[in-house]
Amino acid sequence: MKSYAFPGNIEEDILAIGAQQIPYMRTKEFSETNKESERILNDLIGNKDGRVIIYTGSGTGAMDAVVANYVTTRRKTLVIDGGSFGHRWSQLCDYYSCSHIDIKLDFGKGIDYEHLEKVIRVERPDTLLCQHHETSSGQLYDIEKIGELCRKYEVSLVVDVISSFLVEDIDMEKLGIDIAITSSQKGLNIPPGLSILFFSNRLLDYPFAHKSYYFDFQDNLNNLTRGQTPFSPATLIFLQLNARLKEYEKNGVEPNKQRVKEAAEYFRSLCDKYEWSILAETPSYAITGFQINGDPEKVIRGLIEKYDTFIMPGSRKGFFRVSHMGVASKKDLENLAQQIHELEMQ
Ligand SMILES: *Cc1c(COP(=O)(O)O)cnc(C)c1O
Repeated sequence: MKSYAFPGNIEEDILAIGAQQIPYMRTKEFSETNKESERILNDLIGNKDGRVIIYTGSGTGAMDAVVANYVTTRRKTLVIDGGSFGHRWSQLCDYYSCSHIDIKLDFGKGIDYEHLEKVIRVERPDTLLCQHHETSSGQLYDIEKIGELCRKYEVSLVVDVISSFLVEDIDMEKLGIDIAITSSQKGLNIPPGLSILFFSNRLLDYPFAHKSYYFDFQDNLNNLTRGQTPFSPATLIFLQLNARLKEYEKNGVEPNKQRVKEAAEYFRSLCDKYEWSILAETPSYAITGFQINGDPEKVIRGLIEKYDTFIMPGSRKGFFRVSHMGVASKKDLENLAQQIHELEMQ
């Protein structure tokens, strides 16, 4: 099987961790593992003296937790709605009855930062929710510019870095991010099931709300101080996470960023060759979102049935997304592009 979805293909040694018997989690060994994971996670995202929560749940769980515990305590929130993930922030604000205004962007388009500044100046939000990489289109936002504006107008910045963590440069302290979230099946390229929240040290004494029993920040933070989760964790994924993080601690994250970048650049050259257009104005290296010319249904079914291969359909007809975060050789990418082209021409 070849997967260019989330996660992509995973190395055998990490997969093997998921095939073992499951160790009991209320032990000092499991606590040590989690405390080590928290330390490395903070190092990787520049979250000096900050805290981490790891939930058993998908990425949306962390988004939900942020709105329930934090955004509900804020006066007014600005949402960047540039695709289905940005829109999810907006829906969560509605769900929890948080006062919010949205900046809606056309699919694949970047932010007009002058307009953003004007909206902040006029509307005076105290919180901003955005993505770093809007994975539905492949568009990457300029988080440095967003960070500067938030600092200037004293807006608390919350960023969904779910599909940019470990692929694009992110330093929470330098960028002034108060909360960042990610999840296991994207940049970390391990099975889905964990979502991770990073709190900057500025929020350590913040009076969070208690509106979600399972996701309660204070309860989870208290438990993670001793390396434990309040409820049963997806133990083996926690162990896969730890193995992945130790690899980055040893080798640094640059080789991974380089690998993903090279895969993206190579696949984009193949898109040029087959005349598939890339829609995002400033594409992230994490995925390539591209519009094919032929019949999308034939492509998606043909890839599965004939080649045992997965890519991701997008929200528009003929728009596909190929993730570069999994293991793939140049030859793999060449074969993939050839197969898509053969199927679209049928
Ligand atoms: C994948 C993703 C999510 C969360 O999706 P889940 O299916 O809940 O894991 C949220 N935001 C972004 C930007 C994503 O790429």
